Amino acid sequence: MKAVQYRTVGAAPEVVEIPKPSPRPGEILLKVTAAGVCHSDIAVMSWTEDQLPFPLPLTLGHEGAGIVEEVGEGVQHVEVGESVVVYGPWGCGRCSKCAQGKENYCLYAERLNIRPPGLGAPGAIAEYMIVDDARHLLRLRGLDPVATVSLTDAGLTPYHAIKRSLPKLGPGSTAVVIGTGGLGHIGIQLLRALTPARVIALDVNDEKLRLARQVGAHEVVISDERAAGNVRRLTPEGRGAEAVFDFVGVPPTVETAGGCAMVEGDVTIVGIGGGSLAVGFGLQPYETVVTAPYWGSRSELGEVFDLARAGSIDVHIEKYGIDEAPKAYERLHEGKVRGRAVILPNG
Ligand code: NAD
Ligand code: ZN
Repeated sequence: MKAVQYRTVGAAPEVVEIPKPSPRPGEILLKVTAAGVCHSDIAVMSWTEDQLPFPLPLTLGHEGAGIVEEVGEGVQHVEVGESVVVYGPWGCGRCSKCAQGKENYCLYAERLNIRPPGLGAPGAIAEYMIVDDARHLLRLRGLDPVATVSLTDAGLTPYHAIKRSLPKLGPGSTAVVIGTGGLGHIGIQLLRALTPARVIALDVNDEKLRLARQVGAHEVVISDERAAGNVRRLTPEGRGAEAVFDFVGVPPTVETAGGCAMVEGDVTIVGIGGGSLAVGFGLQPYETVVTAPYWGSRSELGEVFDLARAGSIDVHIEKYGIDEAPKAYERLHEGKVRGRAVILPNG
């Protein structure tokens, strides 16, 4: 089968021919219908050999949807032919975090060497993929896999981040979204669906900001060194935003994020661009909460798909065949993708 692999540190991903996998006991084989392309893969491909926590080659893709092709011995209640999406942050399934569905925060995944597909385990940008356990499958129940596959990360991650801040985002509040790409353009829609907050979106050029407006941002601001002040001026009495979500996470955006937060505000750093924000008396507005979450829980994934089913989220996608996947990564790296790039390995 064809797969898109990261094979050599520092090199571009390659389309290769590898054996079609067979499900071992407990596993499920999916024929992949759609796989999303995330900026985190670009971060992974920028790491040095010492920083990489898993060996190469790696089949990429941690947003996956597929049709159940075959089930391993002992798998029950999963039917061949079912259309599903994959919950990506696999955990042990037994620790106290996993018991709450928070497999993204599994206490044992690292020491048991359990890794998400596309981020250690073979990923979704291939004709077929293995899913380790039936609990990591969510039935699509009529939703289109191509249009919704990216909700498994680009939807779930902002959803988890926003949910934490819901108590602060009441009437008259302001929410700021920095970076309106894959995650950010869904984040804006989630804020509109879940809160009465005014949404201010930041990105680096007018084209990105046009998408932000189209998906529901009330105001848009160019992300430069004056951005924090410009955001504050858009908030009542210049007080700042109740919640700031940074979907870039580089040092300048994290600084902007801190600069727009109000007293008792939330700053959530989702992007993995290496930025950090100092917390200490007088460094941020009083009682600002600064946090850096990772992905989301299994039950939250179900909630995100319920929102999609209710018509609250429209993922803007660019479709590519599997042979064009390296080009999709190139365009994402260059900041040219509008919304999310989705690969159709069997399309
Ligand atoms: P993306 O490339 O689709 O979107 C990034 C957006 O940020 C683009 O629109 C780009 O123009 C914009 N941008 C770049 N520099 C900017 C700046 N200085 N100011 C404002 N906007 C700027 O990326 P994505 O796939 O949406 O991922 C976003 C970030 O989130 C990445 O760092 C990714 O690795 C990270 N991520 C984190 C998690 C998590 O669990 N914490 C999960 C998924 C992705
Ligand atoms: Zn991702």
